[in-house]
Amino acid sequence: MKNKNYTNMNVNPCKMCMPMGGSLAFKGIENSMILMHGSQGCATYIRRHMATHYNEPVDIASSSLSENQTVHGGSKNLKHGIKNVIKLYNPKIIGVLTTCLAETIGEDIKRIIDEFKNKHPITEVDIIPVSTPGYGATHYEGFFHTIRSIIEYYAVDIPEKNEKINIIAGDLTPADIRELKRIGKLFDVDFNLIPDISDTLDGSFQEDYSKIPKGGTTIDQIKSMSGAKATIELALLLEDKYSPGMFLEEKYGVKLYKMAMPIGLQGMDEFVKTIAMITGKSIPEELKAERERMLDGMIDSHKYNAEGKALIYGNPEITYSITRLCSENGITPLIVATGARAKALNRYFNSADSLVMNDVDFETIHSEVKRLKPNLLIGNSDGKFIWEKENIPLIRVGFPVHDHIGAQRKLVVGYTGSMGFLDEITNTLLDLKHKGYRQRLYDELYDKSGGEKYA
Ligand code: SF4
Repeated sequence: MKNKNYTNMNVNPCKMCMPMGGSLAFKGIENSMILMHGSQGCATYIRRHMATHYNEPVDIASSSLSENQTVHGGSKNLKHGIKNVIKLYNPKIIGVLTTCLAETIGEDIKRIIDEFKNKHPITEVDIIPVSTPGYGATHYEGFFHTIRSIIEYYAVDIPEKNEKINIIAGDLTPADIRELKRIGKLFDVDFNLIPDISDTLDGSFQEDYSKIPKGGTTIDQIKSMSGAKATIELALLLEDKYSPGMFLEEKYGVKLYKMAMPIGLQGMDEFVKTIAMITGKSIPEELKAERERMLDGMIDSHKYNAEGKALIYGNPEITYSITRLCSENGITPLIVATGARAKALNRYFNSADSLVMNDVDFETIHSEVKRLKPNLLIGNSDGKFIWEKENIPLIRVGFPVHDHIGAQRKLVVGYTGSMGFLDEITNTLLDLKHKGYRQRLYDELYDKSGGEKYA
């Protein structure tokens, strides 16, 4: 196994910042609104990424710090912002996320919120502060750290025990979340699924515009998490300090099962077997049939997949799960790369054919692409300039996908979703093979002067 850690300057980072992850998490909580404490550009950058990925209007408020507040502190702006958000959006929850600027000048958002609450005793709005310095980590850690902070906020001291399973969902699409909920229904088990973006970031057409989209994980669901039977956290590589499931296990004794996203045969088998084991229920026939159909599809496609040599990149979880899907189907994961410091990624790949890259930027990935020459790129839109420059097909998956439509409907989890995604990979390889094969045959069989090579 050849592993590299790249810690130098970043050129075209293969990651996004912590408040981006925090915003993704809050968008899956019912009746919530985000207020970003920092300069206006942070909110604009994050809104732009989310709006083009999900094709939904995305509102994020900002305390709009400028030079004056950078020197004298932004307390007044944040309090004013909270007041405006309550007046304009009437949310049940306001998630206050910090940014690079707020953290650098040492803003204590918890104190500012307490001062606000003392002056305005509002009981109908919960204001949840989350520290997410843009430079602190990546959007991957920001996402889980925010979910953990939300659960910590609502956790009750002596929880009522219940039979539910907490699912800490990870950075999946609305279609993936709908699939997880369907699996829960097939098992006839109640999931506390967080964050539930199935409706909030993939809404239906409505005559009337609603400032806060319908849907999301409810406060009651979050409160019942500390009394749940178990937690399944779809974040195998996450450090404990960011892990919501670890908090629930350490503080409330809720048994934690950490695993990869249910992508590919192995990933999905682990997920399904864990639910069956926790609940004592047998695996639903419908899921068994879907598994058999997937196995059949894998047999159909395996003879074409050996041609594949892929670069797989993105956040650590999606990168890991898709790499495993590729490996189990005969596609060589030539380069496995993430911008996060996910050293655990190295532990899980033990192949002499794979280069695993942690904390890496796209410039470095690009230089390895030139050297190792993969014939397939699998990852988000941020790597598309490699596709442009090297003319290697790019299969878009993960976040953000802002140069194609339909990212919110992309299904990669479950047996059916994994098979559909594998078909997309195999068909791309088949296209590569068919495209230009006449020219390749000609080059192989005829010499340059036009005569037959083997005459
Ligand atoms: S990296 Fe910092 S400055 Fe840039 S958008 Fe994120 S929080 Fe804002």
